Amino acid sequence: MIICKDSNYLRNILRKLRELNNDVGFVPTMGALHQGHMTLIEKSVSENGITVVSIFVNPRQFNQSEDFENYPRTLDEDLKLLQYSGCDVAFLPEYENVFNDDTKIEVEFNGLDSVLEGEHRPGHFQGVVDVVYRLFDIITPDKAYFGKKDYQQLLIISKMVEFFNLPIEIIPCSIVREKDGLALSSRNKRLNKVERENAVIISKAIFLAKNEYRNETVNNVKKIVWNMISENQYLTPEYIEICDPKTLKLCSGNEEAVNKLLLTAVYCGKVRLIDNILLDSN
Ligand code: AMP
Repeated sequence: MIICKDSNYLRNILRKLRELNNDVGFVPTMGALHQGHMTLIEKSVSENGITVVSIFVNPRQFNQSEDFENYPRTLDEDLKLLQYSGCDVAFLPEYENVFNDDTKIEVEFNGLDSVLEGEHRPGHFQGVVDVVYRLFDIITPDKAYFGKKDYQQLLIISKMVEFFNLPIEIIPCSIVREKDGLALSSRNKRLNKVERENAVIISKAIFLAKNEYRNETVNNVKKIVWNMISENQYLTPEYIEICDPKTLKLCSGNEEAVNKLLLTAVYCGKVRLIDNILLDSN
């Protein structure tokens, strides 16, 4: 595995590797790698001759400096995991190497960026688009892998690719969960034991909505999930919304929730966790 910190060096390496007729798969991450990331990497390795994984904690996508400072960083362990994953190139850029100017990448999202995470984390998606656009420009992958865990991000990046007509296929990957159901997240590393035990209520509540209440109205399902989560003393829901899974248009209260997407952000102590589930019958 090549470890590379410089974007020009990376461009050169990839030019040479492409001459050997390799497709390039790319998995952007912020590190503190877990099985969710590893599943994306495994998929890229199985579908491409070359897999590039970036680890870059992008300050521009954090709307709170405390969250950026406390974001888990476990580079030595990450590199060990990558060594055995089939990853060919680990890209570990410095800030200046990615952002050599202040230009904001402007995309017309038609409201996709102003709901849910966009509403509650102002500037977050601008930061995501600014970094992913630049990483795509450096790496020019054939395929790029994104988890449905960050469902809105996946749609935002797909829209960005469409907007600029980039020749990159965006591959959505299913959410990987702990045995008890909690969605894997780097931020889970910040939960203490008792918070971790209670965080599972988030996935329990959304699975209950899917399995028992999907034929209820949107309002009822939201109420049931909200109550179940907020009754727990360690959990404070920030939002629970039910949306069209393609457009993320918020659904109105009297519609049936079935086949819609439920998305939530919940504070567990000081740690903000997100999760989502399609309210279908599968
Ligand atoms: P992050 O390092 O949190 O920016 O995540 C990097 C990529 O891994 C993103 O595309 C995430 O959606 C994806 N990812 C993170 N957690 C999971 C998970 N539990 N299951 C599937 N994909 C995930």
